Amino acid sequence: MDSLQLRGIGMTSQRARERLLTRLYEAGIRDLRVLETMRNTPRHIFVDEALASRAYDDTALPIGFGQTISQPYMVARMTEALLDGHAPERVLEVGTGSGYQTAVLAQLVPAVFSIERIRGLLDLARSRFRTLRLYNIRTRFGDGAVGWEQYAPYDGIILTAAPAEVPASLFAQLAPGGRLVAPVGGSQQKLVQYERTDEGIVRRTLSDASFVPMLEGTE
Ligand code: SAH
Repeated sequence: MDSLQLRGIGMTSQRARERLLTRLYEAGIRDLRVLETMRNTPRHIFVDEALASRAYDDTALPIGFGQTISQPYMVARMTEALLDGHAPERVLEVGTGSGYQTAVLAQLVPAVFSIERIRGLLDLARSRFRTLRLYNIRTRFGDGAVGWEQYAPYDGIILTAAPAEVPASLFAQLAPGGRLVAPVGGSQQKLVQYERTDEGIVRRTLSDASFVPMLEGTE
């Protein structure tokens, strides 16, 4: 991929990205680091070429294997909720998918660990991280419900697929003061922020959500 493809032309141009930024700001995203990072991240390389012209619309898009790249607003909101005035050193993501959320995080925190249960998606995401020269991302093929013990504890954990309940093993890998942000529930999902405090886990509902379900095992 050459630099022109990365920068984008026409519907994937800088102008299209600026429009998305305006939309995110109007929707209430105020963290300037998050906004700036999303301005600099070429979302069009995370979707199939046939969908590139819609890459800067504020919508989820299909990425194959029955999965979707998350809506930009949700990526921004979840990243904001994860940082929330803190400076996490290590973040675990469950559900690499296209790798877009991973790439946004990797520009904001020193180390990102991401797990995906569909091999084809993970391989594509890895090649995108290389294209963008994001070398602070470690990925793993597996079931994210069990977390990634080897690098625990994490200052932040983010789920980009919705479980009925957040698996206990993920809370166990959350550092003191750490935050976990996840869509939770079945047909009626909520975006929830959890914080590990001295008194235990504090839960805060942020909004409604609509994510693909978190599934067991690998494909
Ligand atoms: N952040 C991604 C979201 C992709 S959709 C993006 O914006 O592209 C959610 C992803 O979670 C899918 O790729 C799906 O395969 C993955 N997933 C679902 N359950 C999982 C599990 N138990 N472990 C790891 N990945 C999982």
